[in-house]
Amino acid sequence: MSQPIQALNILGGPAPVAQPAPVANTPQDDTIHEVVIVGSGPAGYTAAIYTARADMKPIVIAGALDAGGALMTTTDVENFPGFPEGIQGPELMTNLQEQAERFGAEVIYEDAVDLQLAGEVKRVTLDDGTVYQAKSLIITTGSAYRKLGIDGEETLSGKGVSWCATCDGFFFKDQEIVVVGGGDSAVEEATFLTRFGKSVTLVHRRDALRASKIMARRAEADPKLSFVWNSEVVSINGADKVESVTLRDTVTGQERVLPTNAVFEAIGHLPRTDLLRGKLELDDEGYIVCTGRSTHTSVPGVFAAGDVVDHTYRQAITAAGTGCQAALDAERWLADTAAGIDVEDAVAHTVAQ
Ligand code: NAP
Repeated sequence: MSQPIQALNILGGPAPVAQPAPVANTPQDDTIHEVVIVGSGPAGYTAAIYTARADMKPIVIAGALDAGGALMTTTDVENFPGFPEGIQGPELMTNLQEQAERFGAEVIYEDAVDLQLAGEVKRVTLDDGTVYQAKSLIITTGSAYRKLGIDGEETLSGKGVSWCATCDGFFFKDQEIVVVGGGDSAVEEATFLTRFGKSVTLVHRRDALRASKIMARRAEADPKLSFVWNSEVVSINGADKVESVTLRDTVTGQERVLPTNAVFEAIGHLPRTDLLRGKLELDDEGYIVCTGRSTHTSVPGVFAAGDVVDHTYRQAITAAGTGCQAALDAERWLADTAAGIDVEDAVAHTVAQ
């Protein structure tokens, strides 16, 4: 087996390819900025474009390893409006970043490790110790791949276990591939992997796909794709590369071993809200709760946009749209509070629009 060359980052996803040169940070930044944006996917950079154009001089905490977000590990993006021939994910993200920088956004390639949201001045601490202070925050931290949490998953990650078909599919040319999941992601990944694999087996824990009808029909008609229903993967086996998975029938409880060279997990995502637990309102699944159709979180002056809020649509264009909303909400919030309007009234002003 060819070794997948991409190391996995802390999110369990593949580390992105080349990043622009890091901007040197000062150890301490005493300025109280108008806005700091935490996260750098389509939502973060769109918020940066809008706040920069409003002369709010945004700071974007882009992340040390995963700047640009999930699209940095995608190839063709064919459904982002404005690109009739499609565009590569990394190129789209570089364009968005450059567009934000053109209007004065400052992009910092470090991870936020602590967020203090209470009070008028919010504080964002980075892993190099720098603290940024701001009157408003926009959280666009996106989501990470959900993991199965089974034996062999961590030890064999990068050795046949992957969360990204477009990144790693190529390494399994003419080999046996298992995909786990039953939603649109699993079906899309499985269909894509039939380009490479000798066979692709989609293992789903129920007897019906959650995926949209059109994608399911396409997958069911694919001769290289087969389905194992009512089965969960209980372990991924192999010494230094994936050799098989152990499956348990969810109806009979019977276990069996299925030989395979690769396991692609596509079982959904988890919002990246660990730094926010106990600091603002999250829903049962950990997504940030916003007020009405606005991007106001439960903490005045803190806004959220993109996949960290969105259970449902999770598209680059919807993330970009909510990034724009967050910028407009933050701009109005700052103008209202600067004009002496009471905090509650300033929230109500935006939410009522
Ligand atoms: P999803 O719709 O939440 O589906 C997750 C799948 O993984 C479900 O089938 C679920 O099984 C299964 N699953 C979850 N936890 C599991 C576990 N521990 N063990 C085994 N299986 C598990 O997630 P998604 O497929 O990533 O899609 C997310 C959103 O993005 C959806 O709105 C989707 O439509 C959208 N999307 C769209 C496209 C497209 O249009 N091209 C592509 C990808 C995603 P159950 O069904 O039993 O719950």
